[in-house]
Formats: sequence, C-alpha cells, structure tokens
Amino acid sequence: MQGCAFVDGHYVAPEDAKISVFDWGFLHSDATYDVAHVWQGRFFRLDDHLDRFEASLRALRLDPGLTRAQMRQVMHGCVQRAGLRDAYVELLCTRGVPAAGSRDPRTCRNRFMAFAIPFVWIADPDAQKRGLDLVVGSQQRIAAGSVDPRVKNYHWLDFVMGLFQAYDRGGDTVVLLDAAGHVTEGPGFNVFAVLGRGADARIVTPARGVLEGVSRRTMIELAHGMGLPVEVRDLALAELRSADEIFLSSTGGGAIAVHRLDGVPIGGRAAGNFGAVTRQMQAAYWALHDDPRLTEPVRGAD
Ligand code: PLP
Repeated sequence: MQGCAFVDGHYVAPEDAKISVFDWGFLHSDATYDVAHVWQGRFFRLDDHLDRFEASLRALRLDPGLTRAQMRQVMHGCVQRAGLRDAYVELLCTRGVPAAGSRDPRTCRNRFMAFAIPFVWIADPDAQKRGLDLVVGSQQRIAAGSVDPRVKNYHWLDFVMGLFQAYDRGGDTVVLLDAAGHVTEGPGFNVFAVLGRGADARIVTPARGVLEGVSRRTMIELAHGMGLPVEVRDLALAELRSADEIFLSSTGGGAIAVHRLDGVPIGGRAAGNFGAVTRQMQAAYWALHDDPRLTEPVRGAD
C-alpha cells in the first residue's frame, strides 16, 4: 500500500500503523479525526482543517500531545515521505487505553496518529461522470444532541447501514434525515439543493445536524463570489426532491453532482448532463487549488 503513517512519534509504513484493541478509539468510537487533501503537491485549506481538528479535540477533552505546528509538520512529513502529489491526509486522536482495571477516561493516555495515502474520491470516477444516484436512507441520523456532528467522529453505523440500503436499491450513496424529517448529510459529504433556475437560482444547505465541512464552506464562499444567493437553514425532504440540481460537497471530490434522488432524475436531466450551478461550482472549486491564499506546497520532511 502506498503511503506513510505516523504512530507513537515515528513515521511507519501504512501496514505497520496499528492500535491496541483495548484503545477506546476502537472499543467505543472514542476518537476524533480530520481529513485534508493535497492536490498537485499543495495542501488545500490546511489551516481550516487544523482549526476544526483542534476544536474537535477540545470538545472531546482529548490531548494529542503535539502542538499545532508539530501536527502540521507531521502532515507534511507523511505526504513528503509517501512521495504523493495527490493525497488524502488524515489526523486522528483516540482516547487510548485506561489504567488496568479502570473505566475512568481520565486515566487514558490519548494517542495521536496521522497518515497520508493516495487521494480518495467519495464516489468512483464513472459514477461521478454520470452523477450519483442518491438514496434517502430510512435510518435517522444520530441525534445532534447525543453526538455533536460538528465534532468529526466515527459514529457511522447509521451511515454504513444506510449505504447497504442504498446499494440494495441500486444507488451509489445515502443521505439521512433527522428526527424532524430535515435533510442532514451523508457518509463523507454535505448536501446542497439548487432551488429555482437561471436568475431565480439559489442554493440551500442544512444549517444544523451536520459537520461544518471545509468544502461546504468553500461552496458557500464561491456562491457569494458568484452573486448566487445562499440559504443556510433547515432543508425539508420535499424541497430536496423539488430541487433543480443537487450536489454534494466533500474533501473527497469537491462538488459532486447528483443525477437521481431515489431513482428520480433531478431537474429531469439525463445522466452526465449537470445543471449550470453544479458545473460552475466544480470549475471554480478546482480553480481555487492554484490560489496561494488557500494552499501551501508540501515541504520537505523534518
Ligand atoms: N459530513 C460528514 C459526516 C463527513 O464525514 C464529511 C467529510 O468526511 C463531510 C460532511 C464533508 O466535510 P469536508 O468538506 O470537510 O470534507
């Protein structure tokens, strides 16, 4: 496997990046993480990812034992050692193992890890070319009052069972609703509905019950720059079904077009024939990867 990991203070091959089965990160999903990407040798919005990771660590009372500058250096070090131009770069911190016989999380020594592997797309390239078949899962997204979705977490059983349901129905991926029936998000992405067409077009994305995606923020900023109205608010399923376009946002692919929702073509379009807003977002998103204000080149290892 191509890549490089950082575990217990050392850079190791990906196959040697292991944790104890007694680590609560594994036993209780007691962990947080973040994923940034490198495109053509440059990190994209690395400071935003580090900000979110540090906020998640604080929220979960986890201490990675490294400064922000050290974590940044490890991310650069993993990519540089892996020799990757396009990479998926993950930081994670687990609760660790409690003292023998104890169930007290305060006795755990938290563990920081990181790895860089070749860039991962949230959907395979052929599916992206035709636009994804999105399925509305019957699972309710885990309640935001139980697990704060703004803290990036591994509580994914709702998503994973939703993915099985989507595949059983011939879909590519799944979106889940909250208890009130509002649209939330899916495994690895935020959701945008384009309501109206032409001069009436506006984009809507859920305000609550979602991870505040770095790509979601990018899409919102791009829309502002284009003079396209943005509404960050509750999004009813009926509105999503009535959308003229739907696209997903993720570090794993930017703006990803949806072709069908529960088998129904969005905006009545044929596969691969994306709406104007989605096409503009895709072009503008990748163009930002040349912007020195949002990117930094992968530097040599320490
Ligand atoms: N929502 C969830 C649940 C995610 O896991 C992710 C990314 O992995 C996203 C949204 C998109 O976030 P970002 O744009 O920061 O990749």
